[in-house]
Amino acid sequence: MTEPVHVDGNAAAGALAEVLGIDVTTAALTCAGCGRVGVFAETHVYQRAPGIVVRCQYCDHVLARLVHTLTDVRLDMRGAQSWRIALPPR
Ligand SMILES: [Zn+2]
Repeated sequence: MTEPVHVDGNAAAGALAEVLGIDVTTAALTCAGCGRVGVFAETHVYQRAPGIVVRCQYCDHVLARLVHTLTDVRLDMRGAQSWRIALPPR
């Protein structure tokens, strides 16, 4: 039995929360490739690349990349035109 090529965005939520300090699972991302808006938890995550690659669930455009090095974390979020993240209730 082969493993799935990708998993959903929930698999990358912990790594992003570690860097950003927020839960991004319900964030609404506007894809820079196709312009569609999707929920982060429904994106396609590839964890076998060097680091984590988050791709649009509609067009496969790269939305974000996260790589841990020995000294830092490199986060590239330019594949999404915007991230809409709900604030917790005050
Ligand atoms: Zn897209």
